[in-house]
Amino acid sequence: MATLKCRYKQCGRSFPIGLERCPHCARPGVFSNVEEARFNTERKALTKRYKAARNAAVDRNCGDQVIRLEEELDGSQAVINRSALETARLASSDRELYSTFYQLLNAEVRLPAGKVWDRLRILADAALFPNYQERIRFAALSLDGVGLFNYGDCALVLRDSMIGHRASVFHENSILFLRRHHYKIPPGYRAVWRDRAKLGIAKLAVHIKESTLAADFPALLLRQGETSAKDQFLEVHVWGPLSIYCLDRVGISKRFASLSPALLLAVQELLDEAAVKWKILL
Ligand SMILES: [Zn+2]
Repeated sequence: MATLKCRYKQCGRSFPIGLERCPHCARPGVFSNVEEARFNTERKALTKRYKAARNAAVDRNCGDQVIRLEEELDGSQAVINRSALETARLASSDRELYSTFYQLLNAEVRLPAGKVWDRLRILADAALFPNYQERIRFAALSLDGVGLFNYGDCALVLRDSMIGHRASVFHENSILFLRRHHYKIPPGYRAVWRDRAKLGIAKLAVHIKESTLAADFPALLLRQGETSAKDQFLEVHVWGPLSIYCLDRVGISKRFASLSPALLLAVQELLDEAAVKWKILL
């Protein structure tokens, strides 16, 4: 298993992945998902994929569109979808997200519950987050604040300033990716938060045509599937707890909702009280 090296020069000792602080000098702030994305082999492989994708787009006369997409992706945000009921509960206290997301997100955010998916999730998590599976919360990368409705009608948009230092981004739904790659992760498919545009280009540039418009970008990055297994997205991994203060805004979809008017009103009032902006998504 890979090890990390303490970043403080005076220490600089190695330690196992998954620890939140250096066990030698006790300095905190180690986020293993970010550290793993920062490994040289990962960064080099990502840069290679990114350059190849860009060059291929230039050859197809789509270089300008790809530059534009990259600029947009630089401003992309992480979105977690939850049910209206859960969102109301989370908004009702500044401790709620902290205490409940741990169980909820790990269990539900990627694929429906079920024995097969549970088993696949355990396998994927063990490969991707060795020793720190229980630390990771999942979100989807979005350009328009719209997340994956298969996980709930409320799209909780996370603040960059609260997660950027502890978030990494992955090529796609990690369960499906890991299964396809027999639980061996090829380098170049994950990125630190500030490199998420690079990862996005490496994946998405191939879909850009001369006729692609900026208005097409959000659906290129995140496409709703009939089931969550068919959702297309870049997966965001956030280390550690999330509270109401991590929310930038909330989008409420009534499209597929079993939302009663009373519940909708309750969510809106609780978000207002928590000073979190919300809007109804079309
Ligand atoms: Zn140290």
